Amino acid sequence: MVSISTSSSAATLDRSPFEDTATNHLWFHGWDMDWEELTEREGMKIFARAKNTTLYDVRGREYLDGLAGLMVVNVGHGRREIGEAMGYQAGEIAYAASSNYTTIPTVKLSETLARITPGDLDRVFFCSGGSEAVETALKIAKQAQALRGFPRRYKVIARRGSYHGMTMGALSLTAGRNEEFFGPFMYGVSHIPSPNHFVNDFELEGEAGDIMCAKFLEQEIINQGPESVAAFIGEPISTSNGDHVPSPIYWKMVREICDRHGVFLIMDEIINGFGRTGKLFASEHFGVVPDLMTIAKGLSSGYAPIAAVVVRPSVFEGFKNEGASIGHLLTFGGHAVATAAANKNIEILFEENLIERGAEMGAYLKSQLELLRSHPTVGDVRGIGMMTCLDLVKNQTGKEAWGTRHPFIKNLGEAVHGKGLLTRVWNQLHVCPPLVVTRDEIDRMIAIIDESLTEVETEFAAEIAAAA
Ligand code: PLP
Repeated sequence: MVSISTSSSAATLDRSPFEDTATNHLWFHGWDMDWEELTEREGMKIFARAKNTTLYDVRGREYLDGLAGLMVVNVGHGRREIGEAMGYQAGEIAYAASSNYTTIPTVKLSETLARITPGDLDRVFFCSGGSEAVETALKIAKQAQALRGFPRRYKVIARRGSYHGMTMGALSLTAGRNEEFFGPFMYGVSHIPSPNHFVNDFELEGEAGDIMCAKFLEQEIINQGPESVAAFIGEPISTSNGDHVPSPIYWKMVREICDRHGVFLIMDEIINGFGRTGKLFASEHFGVVPDLMTIAKGLSSGYAPIAAVVVRPSVFEGFKNEGASIGHLLTFGGHAVATAAANKNIEILFEENLIERGAEMGAYLKSQLELLRSHPTVGDVRGIGMMTCLDLVKNQTGKEAWGTRHPFIKNLGEAVHGKGLLTRVWNQLHVCPPLVVTRDEIDRMIAIIDESLTEVETEFAAEIAAAA
């Protein structure tokens, strides 16, 4: 544990009755859940409160948040001022139907987003979560294509390794979509290679590999038939694919290819947005404006479930005509308490210069992660801003991944969590704290990872030696 309980009332408890109740009734999310780990090996954590980068559970234990929740809590935990803004709004008016009514904070937020999103993105459709935003973007892209005279443009191209959500349309775009349980998927989706500077699909390095990935998009559009393709979707910097920062030429080429073939470019900034990568939006690193942008997570820093799709006038144009309203209505889209939370959150991001701070502390975080390359199982250190990871391998030269279910990965995850750092350990160990993280907290995170790697590498020494 990083440090002992800060709860003055009691020492750390062995178990809380909440854990038994949760074991009996709560359904935890995810596709990689190990029930025994969750219920018998301390995998479950029930948090009682949190402040900035530190969370406190019901047993009185303290944890550092190395994942900002799930790359969500950009302004940090325990912001009473956001709660107050939400409380005030709930007392005024919490809900108005999202079809022809709205509320003051929702209108304000639409104006703010039009102002701060790149280029001429200026029309906002609100939803409640990232998957819903992706579903919405798919429908907008397809309907907008039809409205501008291309009703047969329904196909969508995504990328290998991508994650765009869990509802059926978004899941169809997600690489690990699990055919066995959930197929068949949305018709007309194909997946192409994604920039990867560690294990590239074409065995090319750096920019050359990225250029090939962009060229592959053009080939795929031609192969599918440009007259049938509605959109291409990708995260500017993909977390699910391991935080590879593409060379600037990649997104410029993608933009040109989409324009050449009348294909909409959807950038999924659900994780990337609101300072996570050291800029307000990650597309700014590349100077590229998408036709549609999906945002969620850092939009409210998790204080309320809210997401949105922001589009350019060229996409919205057709929807203004009679009989061309969008065939889409979400009861909670633009919920007033959620938009009040997002307004306050964005105010904090700017007032406290958290984007710049995230870029600065992100550079420090990366420099400290680099020191862990001395571990035989750290194959690579990647990322930008507060979106970084270690690539975990059996050996550095062969770059062989352990696989997410390997006991090395499981034990490393348990070791890190046991020492008080919350993060995700799969083929990559992600470190994506809130933008308010301090140097001291980063140092403690690195120390925990360092110690945990040493412990688990000792445990698996024979397998590591055999792979070398
Ligand atoms: N798109 C990306 C890039 C994501 O990372 C996620 C979630 O992690 C989603 C979409 C789906 O968001 P949600 O979990 O809010 O439905």
